[in-house]
Amino acid sequence: MHVTIPIASGKESTVIPITIFHGTQDGPTLGITAGVHGYEYPPIMAAQQLIEQINVDQLTGTIIIVQIANVPSFLQRSPFVNPIDGKNLNRVFPGDALGTMTEQIAEIITTQVIARSDFFLDIHGGDASEDLMPYAAYYDNAEQVSSSQQGKLMAIALGFDHVIRFNTNGKEYMEEDQPSLYCSAEAFKRNIPSVDIECGKLGKATPSLTHKIEQGVLNLLHHLQMLPDKLLSDSNQKTIHIDQRMFISSIHQGIFYPAKSAGAYVVEGMKLGYITDFFGQVLDTIYVDKPGIILLIIGTPPVNKGETLAVIGEIE
Ligand SMILES: [Zn+2]
Repeated sequence: MHVTIPIASGKESTVIPITIFHGTQDGPTLGITAGVHGYEYPPIMAAQQLIEQINVDQLTGTIIIVQIANVPSFLQRSPFVNPIDGKNLNRVFPGDALGTMTEQIAEIITTQVIARSDFFLDIHGGDASEDLMPYAAYYDNAEQVSSSQQGKLMAIALGFDHVIRFNTNGKEYMEEDQPSLYCSAEAFKRNIPSVDIECGKLGKATPSLTHKIEQGVLNLLHHLQMLPDKLLSDSNQKTIHIDQRMFISSIHQGIFYPAKSAGAYVVEGMKLGYITDFFGQVLDTIYVDKPGIILLIIGTPPVNKGETLAVIGEIE
């Protein structure tokens, strides 16, 4: 069943396209969001493929897929933010029914999708400027042992080589009186096992990465026993776990010349890249100070002061 939810904000309007699959047998509800960032295409294209792939006759439970959470960002080819109000949808959860358009979108997703979910998956990729290595991630908190553990198993089941633990202990957004900010954090705060996929880079709709996401979601459905057991064995799968992430940010505005790509293993002292001013004068050379794997690195020339240049995962 396809549903289009209209949203109006002043003179502007948009829609949220949502697909609901009701299985022939009762079971849990899996909520999925794609296109929270409308310039991240593999998640959006994978959600389109899932319309064809999911057979409700074989399905136990319900799947709610937000096809494109941020349609204005998608149609106007706007990285990170909704161009209508300039807000990043993944920083305004749980949203506000009386707020700006982006806040209204978040509120609809919170009340209509997240609040109905027993399990939750938010799918992202590298935005226009982001060179990114594919991975799955799960939310973890010492006070939510069961939802953390279930999330970890879901993340592994997605079938990506790398699984990242989002350590939410002590994070302000986990406090009851603080906004959750992130889409999947809103789900996790409700004690729903919550995972993210990050797959795709530099705003490209790469078919192989789209397929990887689609397969990941099908794997997850098998894991949750919402689809019948698959015959394929994945016992050979060796997941690499990443417990800590290091964020390297720029102290300059200018032009970035990366020396490495996402997925590269690095050790202390290796050059990540350098930044010049607008006349080619080198302002800074950035070196790695701990070993790990590059999860994300800026892959296009512009750089701003305070921006994240790279994220490095520490291998356990
Ligand atoms: Zn994103």
